[in-house]
Amino acid sequence: MPDANRAAFIPADAITPERDITHEHFAPGDRIVVIKGVDDGTLWGDAMTVVTPSWHTPTNEDGWRLRNPEGGARSFITGHPRYLVHLSAHCPDCLIYQRALQDYLVPKFPGAEAVDVGWYSITELNQLVHVADGRAGIR
Ligand SMILES: [Zn+2]
Repeated sequence: MPDANRAAFIPADAITPERDITHEHFAPGDRIVVIKGVDDGTLWGDAMTVVTPSWHTPTNEDGWRLRNPEGGARSFITGHPRYLVHLSAHCPDCLIYQRALQDYLVPKFPGAEAVDVGWYSITELNQLVHVADGRAGIR
């Protein structure tokens, strides 16, 4: 994971909230990445492993418990399926989403340094939440 700078502005994300992906698309043991920004012309994010089904309280929908080996005190967080991208290059569904993000985000950050676009945060209850899913008062 690069030592990223926070983006000066948070670009709107019309892609992730519209992504049509089922909970069953993922399974325990899958290696996934949550895209967090751009680094030198490519997307980057946190690589994690899918552990077990877990309720995603910010959306009140089925989510997945994820293990982030770099997460420190927050090694286990719960994310919504639409935040996740299979690291395997053989998943067409995830590749389509990843390419759409790449085409949208990369031109916005042409610099060589890593940028965190600020789409994700982690709540006090270790729920990973996208800005489009975050609402006032959510824990
Ligand atoms: Zn996939």
